[in-house]
Amino acid sequence: MTAPIDLESPDIRALREKVALGCRILAKLELVDYLGHVSARVPGTDQVLIRARGAEQGNQLNMTYKHVSLVDIDAVKIGGEFTVPDETKLHTEIYRVRPDVQAVVHTHQPLATIFGDLERPILPMQGVMAQVVRQGAIPIYHSARKVTTSEQGAEVARILGDKAIVHLQNHGVTIAGTTVEEVVINAIWLEHQAKLTWWASMIGTPRGMSSEDLAMQASEGFGMEARWRYYASLLGE
Ligand SMILES: [Zn+2]
Repeated sequence: MTAPIDLESPDIRALREKVALGCRILAKLELVDYLGHVSARVPGTDQVLIRARGAEQGNQLNMTYKHVSLVDIDAVKIGGEFTVPDETKLHTEIYRVRPDVQAVVHTHQPLATIFGDLERPILPMQGVMAQVVRQGAIPIYHSARKVTTSEQGAEVARILGDKAIVHLQNHGVTIAGTTVEEVVINAIWLEHQAKLTWWASMIGTPRGMSSEDLAMQASEGFGMEARWRYYASLLGE
């Protein structure tokens, strides 16, 4: 049996604060509104910290660690003050089958969603940000419905497979990774590559960078901390 988790212990509080900061960054960049959520696995467990339900918390720019609750692997709330989102099983079913995944973000970001509808690739268009699409084709979950049941969540996780990003067609995207910083930054970068692919498509037929150049960009490492500080600085904090 897993020992109870103290949500106010320094490590857990720091992770809750990071989830909340991820929400604020995504809200600032208009990739989430009151919908969309960030979650993180409590290291070494099947328990997950997830930002509380948007309809009750309102503007994610105001999200604090107190708005990050704890659920078990069946998406049942076991800690925290506030109700969790009705799409929590979208997160927990990925954590259930992907022990490598430590963080998940789900957004309704518009440009990536357009490419999911069209079933057209988001190309590696520019710079280090292009590495977000190095997984190749983004698999598609062919339903616009909210993911609220275990069966739906498990199907999304199956379609995601061992990749990092899955389209939820006419709904949004879900991104899995090893840290909160990685999944939040990948959401930002995915939207940027989608924007450039879209703009280029209005002028001609975009090529996207070569696989060699993309591999080079990906091999440069993520440089996560500095980028995270940059995005956090946009909040003026
Ligand atoms: Zn959603």
